[in-house]
Amino acid sequence: MSKNMTSRIPGFHTMSVEERLAKLAELTDLDQDAVAHFANTGNLEAGTADRMIENVIGTMNIPIGVATNLIIDGRETLVPMATEESSVVAAVCNAAKQCRAAGGIATGTSGSLMIAQVQLVGVSDPENARFKILERRDDIRAICDETDPVLLKHGGGYKDLEVRVLETADGPMVITHLIVDTRDAMGANAVNSMAEAVGPKIAEWTGGRVFLRILSNLADRRLARARAVWPVDEIGGPDVRDGMLSAFRFADADPYRAATHNKGIMNGVSAVVLATGNDTRAIEAGAHAYAARTGRYRSLTKWECDADGNLVGSLEIPLAVGLVGGATKVHPTAQAALRIMGVGTADELSRIVAAVGLAQNFAALKVLATSGVQKGHMALHAKNIAVMAGAEGDEVDALADRMRELGKIRVDVAEELLGELRAGKR
Ligand code: NAD
Repeated sequence: MSKNMTSRIPGFHTMSVEERLAKLAELTDLDQDAVAHFANTGNLEAGTADRMIENVIGTMNIPIGVATNLIIDGRETLVPMATEESSVVAAVCNAAKQCRAAGGIATGTSGSLMIAQVQLVGVSDPENARFKILERRDDIRAICDETDPVLLKHGGGYKDLEVRVLETADGPMVITHLIVDTRDAMGANAVNSMAEAVGPKIAEWTGGRVFLRILSNLADRRLARARAVWPVDEIGGPDVRDGMLSAFRFADADPYRAATHNKGIMNGVSAVVLATGNDTRAIEAGAHAYAARTGRYRSLTKWECDADGNLVGSLEIPLAVGLVGGATKVHPTAQAALRIMGVGTADELSRIVAAVGLAQNFAALKVLATSGVQKGHMALHAKNIAVMAGAEGDEVDALADRMRELGKIRVDVAEELLGELRAGKR
C-alpha cells in the first residue's frame, strides 16, 4: 500500500474509467495485471465460468465502482462495490466524507464461529438423547478434527457443542449444533462435511434417526460491528439529525419500513460481498434472520444522539464471508477486489463490509429525512426524460436543467419545453 494512501480523491467521479484505474494503481496494491483485468469488462473466461456452475451459456456483467472517503479503524480504505443500482456507491462516498473529521468508522467482530445443525427425530426420550449427545463431546471433536485437518492447521475447527430439544408439529426433535471456527473460509462446505460425519454417530448413540445435516445461515456467532459519529455541523444541523433519528425510530418500530431500511443497508453490504466473490444470499438470509431475532423484524442499525449533540450510528450484522473457499479464490475479479482494500483476513473483510453497510444507512436516512429519494434519482434521470421527449445535442442539458428548476421531471413537461425552446429559436 502506498505511503500516501488516502481514500479522499477529489474529482474521482469525474475521471474516466482509465484514469480511475491509474489512480487506484498509484494508491493501492493493484498491480498492472489487475488493472488490465478490470479494464477488460469481459474478464471471466468461459472455461472458468463453466467450472463454477452448471449449464453455463455466458456471464452477466455488473459494474464495480469504488467507494472513496472511508476511514475504517484509522486506515484510509478504498472499497470496491459490485452493484447494478445507481446512487449506491455515491451514497457511501457522501456518508464517509461526513464522518471523516470525526475519525471515520470503528469496527469489531465477535469471532468466526459457524453453526452446523444435525437434526435427530424418532426418539421417545428427547431429553435423555440430548444428554447422551452432550456426553460425547470429545468423540464429536475428534470426528470434526479428522474431517477438516486443514482448518485445524489454520487455528480453526470444532469449538463447542450445543444440543436443543425443539417442539415441532411432528413432535420433539433433538437439534445438535456443532460450533466451528472456520477462520478465513465462509465455512458452509466445511461445517456441512462435519455435520454429515457426526450424523451417523448421533443416530447410533441415541437410537433415533438423523435427518438434516447442514449449516445455519443465522451466523449469530460471527457478528461484525461498525460504529461512527457524524458531527452535527457536518450533516446539516440539529433538524437533519432529529429527522434522521425519527426515520430510524420509524424503521425500528415497523416491519414494513424496517424491510426497506435494511434493504438499504444490504445495498452496501451485498455489493462488497459480491465484489469479493462471496455468497450474497447467505449474508442476506443471515442479516434478515438476525433482524428478527427478538421475535419482531427490526432495524439492523441503531441511531442515537451523543452528549455533544452529534449523530451516532451502529450496525451489528452476521457476516460469514471468506477469503478462501467457494468462488473467492476462483473468480479473478474477487482477487483483484481484495487488492484494492488491502485485506489479509476474512475478519478484516467483514469489518469493511459492516462499515459500508453503516455508511449506506446513514446516506439513506439523510436523504429520506431531507430531500426525499426521488429528488436525486429524478435529477439523474432528467436527461433520459429529455431524450425520450426528442431533445438532441445541447437541448438535452437545457431541458434537464429547466425541468429540475421547475421540479417537474416528466415526459409531457419535456415535450412542452422542447416545443417552446424550438419555437424560441426560430
Ligand atoms: P470450501 O469448502 O471451498 O473451502 C473451505 C476449506 O478451505 C476449509 O474447509 C479448509 O479445509 C480450507 N482452508 C484453506 N485455508 C484456509 C484458511 N486460511 N481458513 C479456513 N479454511 C481454509 O468453502 P467453504 O467456505 O466451506 O464454503 C463456502 C461455499 O459454500 C460458498 O460457495 C457457498 O456459496 C457454499 N454453500 C453455502 C451454503 C449456505 O450458505 N447455506 C450451503 C452450501 C454451500
